[in-house]
Amino acid sequence: MNKTTVGSKVISFRNLQNFKLKKLNDLCKIAKTTTAKAVGPNWSAAYAIGLDITKNHIGLIYTDLSKQVLEHIRIYKSFTDTEEYYKEVTDTLKDFIQAYHIPEDKIVGVGISIPGIVDGDNNRIERSHVLNLYDVPGERFGKYIPYPTILINDANAAGRTEIDSDRIKNNIVYLSLSNSVGGSVIMGDIYSGNSWRSGEFGHMIVAEEEGTCYCGKKGCFDVCCSALRLAELADGKLENFFEGLEQQNAEYRKAWEKYLSYLAAMVGNLHMIFDCVDPYAQKLGEVSSISKKDGKLCAHAKDPISSGLALENFVPANYWSDYDGDVLLLGAGGSTLAMSVYFAQEKFKANVPKHIIIANRSEPRLESAKAILDGLHPQIKFEFVHNPTPEENDKTLASLKPHSLIVNATGLGKDAEGSPFTNSCQFPQDSLVWEINYRGDLLFKNQAEKQAAAKNLYVEDGWIYFIHGWTQVISEVFHIEIKGDLLENLSRIAKS
Ligand SMILES: [Zn+2]
Repeated sequence: MNKTTVGSKVISFRNLQNFKLKKLNDLCKIAKTTTAKAVGPNWSAAYAIGLDITKNHIGLIYTDLSKQVLEHIRIYKSFTDTEEYYKEVTDTLKDFIQAYHIPEDKIVGVGISIPGIVDGDNNRIERSHVLNLYDVPGERFGKYIPYPTILINDANAAGRTEIDSDRIKNNIVYLSLSNSVGGSVIMGDIYSGNSWRSGEFGHMIVAEEEGTCYCGKKGCFDVCCSALRLAELADGKLENFFEGLEQQNAEYRKAWEKYLSYLAAMVGNLHMIFDCVDPYAQKLGEVSSISKKDGKLCAHAKDPISSGLALENFVPANYWSDYDGDVLLLGAGGSTLAMSVYFAQEKFKANVPKHIIIANRSEPRLESAKAILDGLHPQIKFEFVHNPTPEENDKTLASLKPHSLIVNATGLGKDAEGSPFTNSCQFPQDSLVWEINYRGDLLFKNQAEKQAAAKNLYVEDGWIYFIHGWTQVISEVFHIEIKGDLLENLSRIAKS
């Protein structure tokens, strides 16, 4: 399910709560906070349905007072502004209700999200380029639906979902990257602007030379960063594009880098206007990962979180204040930056490594890492070492104190064969060794394992990192917390 669909659900539910369910919701809150053991919230007291309308699909979800997505479907259906279409959508909705046994008398309403400018005061669609609609009353969409309906812009629905999740406490600017580009500004509540156009980031001008947008202007962000731009290079399939990218297709790589540079410029601009960027993304100066889901792209800066969770899995608590070892990060790419930002968090107080060495084969990457990390934390000394050969890495390794942490973040062992060290390298005593890859020849890990008994090394591979990496994205998209037994179960299933 895509975010918009989830978003439409939550937004519909919230709005409906606001005008239909205020009292019931209050009762639930009271029930949740009461100390009486026999009283609990009755989540199934009411249900709401979300209907997501796009050019070629409709999505349906339903939820109860828990606001969890209980079920969802997405089916192919081309939009036409005809009575027949609205009737058919209603039939699909009724089938959905029946199929999932949703108690009809408890359905408080249907939230309908659409790609277009929605005048919420007057319940009308002012304009939708995607659906080719202009000045259409909202009732048209709900005409055959036997429940109260509310229309909402799709990006606003998705943005609202973010703020509804308990993870985000601040104001947010939501940037939605899909076949079209949209966004939402949420300051406590959705800021719609004077004419319902707030958050239309897709039509900010980024690069005139990139061609004309469907809105008529030249060089809109939508032209530069629509997912279609990537998909059209790969038979219209975004999945194919990313597969080709992983296989080092030079044309895709060039297009991807251009895409990312426009995206980075836009995120920077939004940051300048709203001062509202994820602190990790802000420190790293980039969006560190982009995921794809149902043909949509989602941008996150999740790597500091997932690498941090993986580190916490094997680095003992208070390790740095207890032993004062060094950190050697081999490679100066995204993972190394993410780990450095993770280590430099204020919440660790004095329990931070005092000396982090970043070693890399090429100088330019090392320089850009230096520009980002230098001076990040007053108690952490970052050292940037240019080591073009494994022999030089061996020397850096030999200089480390006991109780250090050595991380292979080079891609060697996964993207290419080999290890950043030679076979005669010497790991420091009582240290932690982390190979962040979990597949490939893992030569680095083998080198460490050979010395593990004699040197009292703890050797970890990249499996947990991988699991945290994708479960973080799942958490993001589905708004569920993944830890403990659930995480272990997922890990077990993924391994089998
Ligand atoms: Zn435009």
